[in-house]
Amino acid sequence: MLHLTEDQSRQFAEQVLAAAGRPEVLAAVGEIYTRVQAEIDARQPVCQISGRCCRFESFGHRLFVTTAEMAAFRRQLPVPAPAAIRWDGTGCPYQIAGRCGVHGIRPFGCRIFFCDATSTAWQQAQYEQFHAEIRSLHGRFEIPYFYVEWREAIRAVGV
Ligand code: SF4
Repeated sequence: MLHLTEDQSRQFAEQVLAAAGRPEVLAAVGEIYTRVQAEIDARQPVCQISGRCCRFESFGHRLFVTTAEMAAFRRQLPVPAPAAIRWDGTGCPYQIAGRCGVHGIRPFGCRIFFCDATSTAWQQAQYEQFHAEIRSLHGRFEIPYFYVEWREAIRAVGV
C-alpha cells in the first residue's frame, strides 16, 4: 500500500508492535535475511555506495516492507532511533551523510536492491522468491499481512 488510511495505519502499527514482541518472528525474518545475503555474496552485484537508491524521489522508486519485517526492524532498532535526528519527509530518514544508519537491520527491499543493471533479472527472481517466503511467515505466525511503503510504515509505527 502506497498510502495507508488512518485506520489501516493504526492496525498496521498494532500488528507490528505485537509481532515485535515475539522472538520467533525476529528469528525467522533473520534466517531469511541470512539466506538473502548468501545469494548476494554468490552473485556479487555492484554497489557503488552512492546512496542514490535511498533518495526515493530523485531515484524514482519506492521501497515496501511487510508486517513481519517491520516488527523485526522495530524490535532491533537502537534507542534513540536515528530517525529522531531530523527528517524533511523525503528520502529515507535513516540515511545519514549518504550512508545507511540502520544497515544491519535494514529491510529486505534495501538488501536486495542494486542499481547494477547487470543484476536486474537476478534481483527480480530473488525478490519474488524471498518475498514469497517472507509473506508465508505471516500465515505461519498468524500475523496479518501488510505490504506498506517504507516511509508510511515508519510514520505508522512511529520509529
Ligand atoms: S533503511 Fe538504509 S538502505 Fe534502506 S532506504 Fe533507508 S538508508 Fe537506505
